Amino acid sequence: TPSALKADEAGQAADLTLWVRVALDVPVQGLFDYCSATIIPVGTRVIVPFGRRKLVGVVVATPAQPAIEPRLAKAVEEVLDDTPPLPADWLRLASFAAQYYQRPLGEVILPALPTALRKVSAYQGKRSAGGPVKRMDKRARPLAGSVGADTPPSLNAEQAAAAQAIAGQQGHKTIMLHGVTGSGKTEVYLHAAQAVLARGGQVLFMVPEINLTPQLEQSLRSRLAGIEGGEMLAVLHSGLSDGERLRAWMRAQRGEARVLLGTRLSIFAPLPDLGLIIVDEEHDASYKQQDGLRYSARDLAVWRARDRNIPVVLGSATPSLESWNHAETGHYQRFTLAQRAKAVELPSVKLVDTRRLAMQQGFSPQLVKALEERLEAGQQSLIFLNRRGYAPVLNCASCGWVSQCPRCTAYTVLHRAGARRNYLQCHHCGFQARVPHACPDCGDQDLKPMGRGTQRVEEYLAELFPSARIARIDADSTRLKGSAAALFAKVHAGEVDLLVGTQMVAKGHDFANLGLVGVLNADAMLFAQDFRAPERLFAQLMQVAGRAGRHVKGGEVIIQTDYPEQAVYQALLRHDYPGFAQYGLAERKAVGLPPYAYQALLTAEARELSSALGFLADARLLPEQHPLDYPTVAALTLYDPVPLRVVRVANIERAQLLVESTSRPALQAFLTTWSHALSGVAKAFRVRWNLEVDPLEI
Ligand code: ADP
Ligand code: ZN
Ligand code: ZN
Repeated sequence: TPSALKADEAGQAADLTLWVRVALDVPVQGLFDYCSATIIPVGTRVIVPFGRRKLVGVVVATPAQPAIEPRLAKAVEEVLDDTPPLPADWLRLASFAAQYYQRPLGEVILPALPTALRKVSAYQGKRSAGGPVKRMDKRARPLAGSVGADTPPSLNAEQAAAAQAIAGQQGHKTIMLHGVTGSGKTEVYLHAAQAVLARGGQVLFMVPEINLTPQLEQSLRSRLAGIEGGEMLAVLHSGLSDGERLRAWMRAQRGEARVLLGTRLSIFAPLPDLGLIIVDEEHDASYKQQDGLRYSARDLAVWRARDRNIPVVLGSATPSLESWNHAETGHYQRFTLAQRAKAVELPSVKLVDTRRLAMQQGFSPQLVKALEERLEAGQQSLIFLNRRGYAPVLNCASCGWVSQCPRCTAYTVLHRAGARRNYLQCHHCGFQARVPHACPDCGDQDLKPMGRGTQRVEEYLAELFPSARIARIDADSTRLKGSAAALFAKVHAGEVDLLVGTQMVAKGHDFANLGLVGVLNADAMLFAQDFRAPERLFAQLMQVAGRAGRHVKGGEVIIQTDYPEQAVYQALLRHDYPGFAQYGLAERKAVGLPPYAYQALLTAEARELSSALGFLADARLLPEQHPLDYPTVAALTLYDPVPLRVVRVANIERAQLLVESTSRPALQAFLTTWSHALSGVAKAFRVRWNLEVDPLEI
């Protein structure tokens, strides 16, 4: 801040050296002090020498005295003033994230910047052209306020109440928008956003994924059109080129973009006039970054909104139990959209008890009959199966051999790619092998695929319904750029009768003519995972069920299960999220799981499992060995180190240790001390480790 600078100037009147404290992206704890002949404002990017290298860093403080011996200090080499200094609130957000997620500040700040802004080569050396921004065209700042190109539907009473509350909210508040699928949450967001834009604020609109839901971008663009061709909108996600990302970032920072639509990484965009944050599908796991800085963009959004004293909206049909608990206890204000916006009812959900049924290729007679009826009625159906490939494993009937990845403790999945091109692939490490002609162990030629994935389901449906037009949408069928969009376009154009898909089809799509959703193998999702598995399954099934009957009457969802009495399925029958949440929270409370406890996960990776486990065992002993360093140990539980479920991936063995506390501050204080001591322990075991705060998967 300017006043801090003045104080520094005064303090240094006698000695004309100025000091800057710089954050660098290096795997060393701490910040680095350099001297400078000129005043450099906090938030400025600089090029500094570091060892033999030169690095781009960010000035985070201007101390009166350096923390090192002054005569050893090196000088700032270049001040990068091609962008305005990073604003103070942005730096606060970064410092909070660094502290909370236990990472050095430089490892948060630098990776959050677009690549071009943190590369020395963009400024110095042969390739430079005086910095990346110089080459960008400057655009005039459009006038805010005059939004509204197409005519939006008039809001119903529930929508209006929510939109008004958000639009009228002065100061911070976290607002939960709980609306069933198709209840028109987007309309509420848009109305609230328009009010904020009209009073000169910027809006950060976060979505889990952009590529899969182009509809939202389109409706935002058309709603904001009329102002320099929709230039008010900037879009930020990881699929952009470096140049596109830089441009969106700069437009946000300069205030030219008034609405920033983005995925999780957009939480780190500087937005000088930020007036509202929207987090759509707030429960979605995509908001969690799974490597590097393992942050939750949803949680950071709530923190940033509080810090900026502005409202934040968390929208979902199936909120996370963490957020729901906050609403139940009054920390969040909740608005409910209980009805679908259009005059169509929610689809009816049926459970087919598969325990005593004669199944054909995973299909119950009931589901086959329902598919026939929809085909006859000229409606589309979706078969949802969260497993790609042809079959999850190949098996020898004579000796019991199964296709296994040589590098992982996992099966290889059979993929069909035409006559002689079938292959086995490991979904953990990518390993590929040809399908053997005979069993490698006993030589028997009768190798059989076990279980089924989307390819096999597609094949079976083609047998059952030879005249139906069938499409499959999963990671395999959409590998080529643009192919997902092309497949979805075919579905929308009515050129598909039966659609087979993984979770890729569950999100956000509004299929006009879809009457039936059939769910295969849901039980696998219920039992195969951690304590959040039922919550995830419920959300996923609600979401996929929400694809049915959005426009046609009599929409229907058929879930095949061996466990129809499970709470998840019973709540789905009634579309009863609150009932499910109540049950789920009670269960968590009884055993002391989040949101009634806070967790951190220490993961270790090594060539030998014994090293990974040894490191974790020693890490676990640290508080006992150094009791004076750990004043809060009493409120904590450190569990036994255990191997991961899939213990070996790509020849690396993995183990983890869970830390839990009923007090977030106690956990935080412990982690800060602990994480600083872990590097020392890791050296002895030659392991790679990472510490994850609020892990989603355990
Ligand atoms: P959600 O995001 O809650 O699942 P959407 O925002 O996609 O639901 O809305 C579902 C459909 O209802 C969309 O086609 C939308 O244009 C329409 N819609 C939203 N609000 C209204 C309204 N007040 N009147 C009529 N149609 C509406
Ligand atoms: Zn065999
Ligand atoms: Zn593998």
